[in-house]
Amino acid sequence: MDYVYALDGKFKEKSELGNKGANLVVMTELGLPVPPGFVITISAFKKWQETGLLPEEAINEALANLEKKMGRKLGAGLEVSVRSSAPVSMPGMMDTILNIGDIDQVKSAIKRIFGSWNTPRAIEYRRLNKISASLGTSAIVQAMVYGNRDERSGTGVLFSRNPSTGEKHLYGEYLVKAQGEDIVSGSRTPEPISRLKSVMPEIYSQLEAIADKLELHFCDMQDMEFTIESGKLYMLQTRSGKRTGNAAIKIAVDMVNHGFITQEEAIQRVTVEDIKQILHKQIKDVGNYKPFVKGLNAAPGAASGRAIFDTLGVIPESKKGPVILVRTETSPDDIQGIALAAGVLTQKGGLTSHAAVVTRAMGKPCICGAEGIEIDLLAKIFSINGQVIVKEGDEITIDGTTGNVYLGALPLVEGGFTPEVKELLNIANGFKRLGVRANADTPDMIARALEFGAEGIGLCRTERMFNAPERLAAIREFIMAENPENRSAAIKNLGELQVTDFTTLFKELRGSPIIIRLLDLPLHEFLPSENETTDPQMKQRIASLKEINPMLGHRGVRLALTTPDIYIMQIEAIKKAMTLVPANVSIMIPQVITSQEAINVKNLAKGINVKLGVMMETVRACMRAGQLAMEVDFFSFGTNDLTQAVYSFSREDAEKEFLPTYLRMGVLLDNPFEVLDIKGVGRLMETAIFWARRAKKDIEIGVCGEQAGEPRSIHYLHGIGVDYISCSPFRIPIAKLVAAQAAIQERIFMAEYDTSSFPINS
Ligand code: ADP
Ligand code: MG
Ligand code: MG
Repeated sequence: MDYVYALDGKFKEKSELGNKGANLVVMTELGLPVPPGFVITISAFKKWQETGLLPEEAINEALANLEKKMGRKLGAGLEVSVRSSAPVSMPGMMDTILNIGDIDQVKSAIKRIFGSWNTPRAIEYRRLNKISASLGTSAIVQAMVYGNRDERSGTGVLFSRNPSTGEKHLYGEYLVKAQGEDIVSGSRTPEPISRLKSVMPEIYSQLEAIADKLELHFCDMQDMEFTIESGKLYMLQTRSGKRTGNAAIKIAVDMVNHGFITQEEAIQRVTVEDIKQILHKQIKDVGNYKPFVKGLNAAPGAASGRAIFDTLGVIPESKKGPVILVRTETSPDDIQGIALAAGVLTQKGGLTSHAAVVTRAMGKPCICGAEGIEIDLLAKIFSINGQVIVKEGDEITIDGTTGNVYLGALPLVEGGFTPEVKELLNIANGFKRLGVRANADTPDMIARALEFGAEGIGLCRTERMFNAPERLAAIREFIMAENPENRSAAIKNLGELQVTDFTTLFKELRGSPIIIRLLDLPLHEFLPSENETTDPQMKQRIASLKEINPMLGHRGVRLALTTPDIYIMQIEAIKKAMTLVPANVSIMIPQVITSQEAINVKNLAKGINVKLGVMMETVRACMRAGQLAMEVDFFSFGTNDLTQAVYSFSREDAEKEFLPTYLRMGVLLDNPFEVLDIKGVGRLMETAIFWARRAKKDIEIGVCGEQAGEPRSIHYLHGIGVDYISCSPFRIPIAKLVAAQAAIQERIFMAEYDTSSFPINS
């Protein structure tokens, strides 16, 4: 292995040349105009880190070759740049040194580039982007070309597509008579690339052809840097371009439709972050507001917050609530501020400026080049025509989708789907094995869940139906009833209300399946608190229902055994509602510990033709899963309560008091209420599933805790053979993508592995 490779050679390993270096070799190979040069490899960098030594001889030889190729000598007509090149691109994070004219300078520049791997801002960027410090960088020595030579010279940044939308057309900017740094730094606001079409038509069509060629070669959208020197085009860089979630999805779907990539590749390529982004916030009823300035729509989505004028201010202020970072332009030193802000607004800079590129990658709203405002960074204000509009701490709203800036914190709403997103999710449906349902209690939530692609409702809680004021009165009447007549009158009243509840839900469902969980709450939850009432009778009832630990108390199926009226009423109401609006209903019993409880409820439900199942949320139910399975049609793991039970933690107390410390100390790696605890709760679930399927092969097994919408947990749940997950409506698209990725990865793994040697039944 050599330490130095020429750009016009065959060697193009990213792990040695880095991304930029390897792609320069590819571009040279494709016959594109790339200034000649060579790369000092990552192995050489590592050696330098250990010993402080460069491969001097190889560098001397490569420089001599370069001089020969160029027909000019260093310092006498030939200058070079020294650029950094890591295996993952870290735009603008490391040094670049231009216009170097002698050998000693070249060598010290290489050392400086190597040294820039460990500058604070490079370290911060790697931390934010989870890039390993052990990757290292190479250094590229390349003949200089001059975009600032004359009026027929210039430099630009170009995307093969629109990185905000994914649409296929040239997108980018250029500056006449300038070097690259002038664009990237945002110090001059560049011209849109479309103008180059009339200014230098030949260069423009050359760029179009190059963009096509590179996109086809890499099967991905490219982000390119070019320089024109006295009418001749040079390509200085290409890489896969950072893009918004919507663009990522459109590009993936487009490339499948053009046969560039397979459906599997498209699914693997789109990330959870991409999907999160498409659900961008938007300004509610945006037509009602008038923006005070418009800038470039650099990264989509709306955000509101207090205007803060520097990163140092953002760090404490973002802890108190959302902030918008306002700068004349951003630099790599602002990385942390950008990461903590809800959005970014800059006065200068274009669509490829630092702020634009970084926010797009982070998926947060950004408006650049809002030249209508005049920012005074010292006074921390900005003004329009001399009139102060916003002071530090004032609330503003930015809409990165349109470029509009508004005063005040405007109401925001969640985003929606494009046709490409629907297409991607359709592709995902074809691969995933896990069913994806939603947890939804109200007609509104059901509508939203179905709109987001839920394959039914995996958990519909009935508690909320009792909490509306008129319901509360009715259930209190039931609890307070003194004699059986009053009691049955009260329950009849409740039953009628429930019939309406269920029919409205069923109408919204239009045939999609729903699992209705019977009442889980303890009765005292429906009574006022002790000091809210003066009624002595009420006070007495409150006292009699009081429990030391209500979470572990008289609730769920336990209440149904002592006071069956409520479950009977609910079951009757469901039955009646089904005659009014046909529906695919399953009934779920909460808090079960033994099959005897399930048998009891089964007896109450004799007259209704639905599936009956239990919510698996007690440890005992999991340990008795085999016996339990014989009595019911399905299980649904309620991983919130199950986690509480396995840990003996009350979630609210834990999250308020000690869980943060546990996480900080590394005693626990994740919050088990957010990421399913595979080793503890998961093991219990696996045991339960094993015994359940042994008792009843086709028992349907679902998971309806919050963790069911979390990507790592979804991978695991796929692996242990769960039939479906049920999560919050907003997580449905993410869950579908991840479920498809899990299925594809499993298939790839099985295909690479010789499974014939597995002792399947041991
Ligand atoms: P980064 O990794 O931050 O993008 P680059 O290595 O691309 O850094 O260098 C930054 C800029 O320096 C380039 O965009 C280009 O404009 C300029 N540059 C680098 N090398 C050369 C060269 N050989 N000739 C002309 N300009 C160059
Ligand atoms: Mg560059
Ligand atoms: Mg529960």
